[in-house]
Amino acid sequence: MPPQDQRGQLFVISAPSGVGKTTIIRSILSEGASLRFSVSCTTRLPRQGEIPGRDYHFLSREEFESGIQAGRFLEWAHVHGKYYGTDGEQIEEWLIDGEDVLLDIDVQGARQVRCAHPQAHTIFILPPSLEALEERLRGRGTESREQMATRLAAARREIQEAHWYDYIVVNDVVQEAAADLQAIFRSCRCLRRLQLERVRPYLIAH
Ligand code: ADP
Ligand code: 5GP
Repeated sequence: MPPQDQRGQLFVISAPSGVGKTTIIRSILSEGASLRFSVSCTTRLPRQGEIPGRDYHFLSREEFESGIQAGRFLEWAHVHGKYYGTDGEQIEEWLIDGEDVLLDIDVQGARQVRCAHPQAHTIFILPPSLEALEERLRGRGTESREQMATRLAAARREIQEAHWYDYIVVNDVVQEAAADLQAIFRSCRCLRRLQLERVRPYLIAH
């Protein structure tokens, strides 16, 4: 296993559904952010425009449950009545190769990742207001009235968890939220514990 300062860094983003995580993450990836994005597995159905393998790996309930039995997931959770999970093997390979990895997962998953990887950087994205969140969910038009009510109730609960995350970003204007995220990635890469190898040649014995 490579020393900690040569491993990639793990970034975990959580936000209630509809805040704009996917929009922001697509924006930073299209700008060429040097990060691997972990494509999650889920048992929910694809939305219009979602591409299997790019947006999610869409699994049947049986496939997901046998993945749980086989220890395939770094973390998994029931979210809005469906299974969601992160493939652990792929993440470990990237980290060992020194690549930084971004996970977009809910608060239950984020807690599990923080236990397994205490040095992971956790980021919570907030909407500018609950009214704005409701408007965005309605505007996206991908959920039924019933599903929207479930997601809004879940949003109120999830926001209560924001206090234990390392960073909080408010998604008012997409470009500004994306710039905040890029700033977080950049500053984390300058952390002292990750730069010690670079300092070593300057350390003169007295
Ligand atoms: P999430 O991935 O968090 O569920 P999405 O990225 O799908 O959310 O965004 C939900 C909806 O809100 C989409 O229709 C998106 O275009 C819109 N949206 C995202 N960010 C903003 C923003 N800053 N201002 C206004 N609308 C936004
Ligand atoms: P959506 O169905 O809107 O794409 O996602 C619903 C919620 O599931 C979001 O909060 C999203 O972050 C979360 N989610 C997506 N992938 C995973 C995952 O792999 N694990 C966990 N725990 N949550 C996930």
